Amino acid sequence: MLRNDQLDQWDRDNFFHPSTHLAQHARGESPSRVIKTASGVHIEDRDGNRLLDAFAGLYCVNVGYGRTEIADAIAAQAHELAYYHSYVGHGTEASITLSKMILDRAPSHMSKVYFGLGGSDANETNVKLVWYFNNILGRPQKKKIISRWRGYHGSGIVTGSLTGLELFHKKFDLPVEQVIHTTAPYYYRRENLDQTEAQFVDQCVADLEALIDREGADTIAAFIGEPMLGTGGIVPPPAGYWAAIQEVLQKHDILLIADEVVTGFGRLGTMFGSEHYGITPDIITIAKGLTSAYAPLSGSIVSDKVWAVLERGTDENGPIGHGWTYSAHPIGAAAGVANLQLLDDLNLISNAGEVGAYLNGALRDALADHPHVGEVRGEGMICAVEFVKDKDNRVFFDPADKIGAQISGKLLEQDKIIARAMPQGDILGFAPPFCLSRAEADQVVEGTLRAVKTVLG
Ligand code: PLP
Repeated sequence: MLRNDQLDQWDRDNFFHPSTHLAQHARGESPSRVIKTASGVHIEDRDGNRLLDAFAGLYCVNVGYGRTEIADAIAAQAHELAYYHSYVGHGTEASITLSKMILDRAPSHMSKVYFGLGGSDANETNVKLVWYFNNILGRPQKKKIISRWRGYHGSGIVTGSLTGLELFHKKFDLPVEQVIHTTAPYYYRRENLDQTEAQFVDQCVADLEALIDREGADTIAAFIGEPMLGTGGIVPPPAGYWAAIQEVLQKHDILLIADEVVTGFGRLGTMFGSEHYGITPDIITIAKGLTSAYAPLSGSIVSDKVWAVLERGTDENGPIGHGWTYSAHPIGAAAGVANLQLLDDLNLISNAGEVGAYLNGALRDALADHPHVGEVRGEGMICAVEFVKDKDNRVFFDPADKIGAQISGKLLEQDKIIARAMPQGDILGFAPPFCLSRAEADQVVEGTLRAVKTVLG
């Protein structure tokens, strides 16, 4: 086995890490961690540290680590058939079974699932499908996509554009011109502090109407949104938001893409976030929780309405010119089948709802009154704590102080717990595996309180 110091040197010399300060990492100025193994909600690194992963990787290892049922399914699939493509009508038992399992769980007006590898490529697929849809309907000018500031939809060219976070645009020449952004449904960060939640929803609707008006409804193809903002801050929508937004979209004949990469398959305590918030999407993006990240797999679930136009398109133009070599990869599909089965067998979605509510409540009890905690919020097994400099006047800390990162660093150092300092704002995010126990939730809360006190007093 390689020595740790050798591995560290190879890492810094050779490995181009995503979302990393490249220069600091290459110079050895920033910490690195080599993960060795994991089980349940814990990961273990090569230095022998056992860490409680309260973010489930990147909110994706939903069933928890070390599930032999999924590992065995992957191995069995690899032995029987590691790969065959899914072009021109080819499939495998795993990919066909998984399609059916997904549609059985999705809202009843959904029709088919196209498989990709990750959330970003699935959203690239969605944008292409929306453009194709409008071309077939003879509306070639109806192409723009509305996304929200603070939405996260990936880091490709179109999907990085859809993502409404500064870091993902800066120096990349994004967003592309077909993507436009509207107000984030983030009540705590509203501009006008006097607004009630209902008034703020009216504001979101008015901002959307104004944007549509300015651009022209005949140029706008779709609206994309996560049912609940994730990477942009873990923010449940204000009451009434989705009903009001959908009314606007319907009025202007704008398709709705629900990006359920985080919320799909149980994160909110329900199968889909769409079901949770009364959203009726035309397309649903799925990834992470589809396989609990045991293998890369994503999907675009299209509705009956979209599918009918796609069929018409291929009758008129021949086979659809869209496909990846690894679409519906059998190993990913086998992992997906075993994962969805496990969610059912172990009742993990209801555990996510119950223990998630417990975690949320305990965090609130422990932290809401702290003078530098502005808000504790969440839903199901995902929640966040937002820190402020001056609570009464809602003055945020200077981003240069990196308060969120300091607190997550202390939490790790003092209690060996991983929570995520969200990329924009001083927000500590939690999204543990669904198998989290109440005792583990208590540990997370106690450690967080300790870390907050260490950094902020
Ligand atoms: N959509 C949402 C809501 C996400 O949270 C993410 C990733 O975090 C993506 C899309 C992109 O997925 P991926 O990183 O698998 O490309």
